[in-house]
Amino acid sequence: MFDNIGEKIKLVAKVNCAIIAVACVICGFGVMFNSSFLLGLLIMAAGVLVGWAGSLVLYGFGELVDSTTVLRQAAEKQQAQSAAPVASTPHAAAESKGYSLSSMAAQRQSTVNGWVCKKCNKRNNTTAMFCSDCGTSR
Ligand SMILES: [Zn+2]
Repeated sequence: MFDNIGEKIKLVAKVNCAIIAVACVICGFGVMFNSSFLLGLLIMAAGVLVGWAGSLVLYGFGELVDSTTVLRQAAEKQQAQSAAPVASTPHAAAESKGYSLSSMAAQRQSTVNGWVCKKCNKRNNTTAMFCSDCGTSR
C-alpha cells in the first residue's frame, strides 16, 4: 500500500491540483454569474494558482521521496556489494585450506613414492627401513 510512496504523492499532487482548479473554476463561475464577474475571475485565477502552487510543493515532496527511495536503494545495493568481500573471506580461507590440503597431498605423494635418504639423498622405497644405497637408517 505504501510502496512507491513518491509516485503516489506525485499522483495525489496532480489530482489535488485538478480538483482545486476545477472547484475554484466552478466556484468562480458561480460568483461570476451571481455577483461580480471580476471577483469570479479572481477566484478562478487564485484557485488555479493556489492549486498549482500547493501541488507543486506536494509534487516536489513526492519527487524528494522518490529520489530518497532511489538513493536508499542505491545505498543498500552498495552496502550489499561492500558486504560481498566480507562474505568472500571464508572462501579465501577455504582456498588457503585447499592449498594446505594440496601440500598435504604432495607430502603423502612423497611418502608413497618413498623417502629420501638424509645422508646420500637417494629416494628409497616406502617399505624400506634402510637406504638401499648407503644403508643409513630411515
Ligand atoms: Zn643413503
